[in-house]
Amino acid sequence: MRVLGIETSCDETGVAVYDSELGLLGDALYSQVEMHTEYGGVVPELASRDHIRKLLPLIREVMTESGLVLADLDAVAYTAGPGLIGALMVGASTGRALALGLGIPAIGVHHMEGHLLAPMLEESPPSFPFVALLVSGGHTQLVRVDGIGEYKLLGESLDDAAGEAFDKAAKMLGLEYPGGPLIAKLAEQGDRTRFRFPRPMTDRPGLDFSFSGLKTFTLNTAQSCRDAEGVIDPQTMADIAAAFEEAVVDTLAIKCRRALRETGLKQLIIAGGVSANRRLREKLAETVSVEKASLYYARPRFCTDNGAMIAYAGCQRLMAGQQSDLTILARPRWPMDSLPAL
Ligand code: ATP
Ligand code: MG
Ligand code: FE
Repeated sequence: MRVLGIETSCDETGVAVYDSELGLLGDALYSQVEMHTEYGGVVPELASRDHIRKLLPLIREVMTESGLVLADLDAVAYTAGPGLIGALMVGASTGRALALGLGIPAIGVHHMEGHLLAPMLEESPPSFPFVALLVSGGHTQLVRVDGIGEYKLLGESLDDAAGEAFDKAAKMLGLEYPGGPLIAKLAEQGDRTRFRFPRPMTDRPGLDFSFSGLKTFTLNTAQSCRDAEGVIDPQTMADIAAAFEEAVVDTLAIKCRRALRETGLKQLIIAGGVSANRRLREKLAETVSVEKASLYYARPRFCTDNGAMIAYAGCQRLMAGQQSDLTILARPRWPMDSLPAL
C-alpha cells in the first residue's frame, strides 16, 4: 500500500510517500521557522496562510521525487490533531479533498502517534511492547506501548513540555525561537558543573514531570550574572545553557529509568523534537546500558514535525482496515489514549 502523508499541525509543512513494501519513497519538508522568529514564537494565522502557500507545491515535489503520479497512490493520511486549528484545517481539507478526487481512502492521523512511530522508519526498529518518552514542543509523556493504539499513559508534564521549557529558557537568555537547538549548541561550549539546577519531581515517586520551575531558575541565574550594563559574558551564557540542559536531560533520564523498572520492559524509544537532543541521547544510552535495555530514536529530521511519520502511521492503520469518513477531521485537542487499537 502506498500512502501520501500530510503534516500541517504547527509550523512545518511536511509531505511524504510511504510504501508498505518499499519503505519511504519521498519526503519533503518546509519549515516556517524563519517567518515566526521575528515574533518570538508561532503566529497561528501566519502559519495557516503559509501552509496554504506551500502544501500543493510540496505534494508535487514529493510525487516527482518518488517517480509517481497521483493515480499511483492508494490512500492519503493527514494530521487531524492535536495542533493549531487553522493549520490543521489546511492539511485536513487538502488531504480529504485529494482522496475524494482520486477515489481512495483517507485517514486522520494523531500527530503524537506519528511522532511515537517515527523510530519505526529506521533500520532495526523496536518491537512491541516498549516504553516511549514523547518529548516535543507541546508534550512530555511517558507511555507504555503494547501495539499501535494500545497506549497507557504512565506520566506526563503537569505544566510546560520539555521543548517548551527549552524554548522559554532560550528566550530568557536572549536566543531566537525555537531555542531548543540553540541552547543545545551553546551548551556544548559550557561547563555543566558551574551552576546546579534542580531536577524537578525526582525526589518523590511517580512518573510525572514539571518543567516550569526550571524556567524561573534560569531567569534568576541569568539575572544574577548580568554586569552593570546588563550583559552576560559568553562563557557564562554557555554555562547556564549547559546547566539547564543537564537538568532537563537528567530529569528525563531518571523518569525513563523508573518507567523501565516499573514496567519491566527492555526497550525505550524517544520521539518528538527534543529527542534530537544529543545530550539526551548520550544520557539515555547510559541509562539503558545499566538497565540492560535498548534505546531507539529517529534520525533528527524525523524527530521534529514531518510528513513521513504521518504517512507511516496512517499506512499501519489503513492496512488494518481503518479509515476516516468524509468529515474533514481537525481536533486541536485529542487525547492519544482515546485512539482505537489495530
Ligand atoms: P507537539 O508535537 O507536541 O505538537 P511540536 O510539533 O511543536 O509540538 P516538535 O516539532 O516535535 O514539537 O518539536 C519542536 C520542539 O523540539 C521545540 O520546542 C524545539 O525547541 C525542540 N527541539 C528541537 N531540537 C532540539 C534539540 N536539539 N534540543 C532540545 N530541544 C530541541
Ligand atoms: Mg515546529
Ligand atoms: Fe510535533
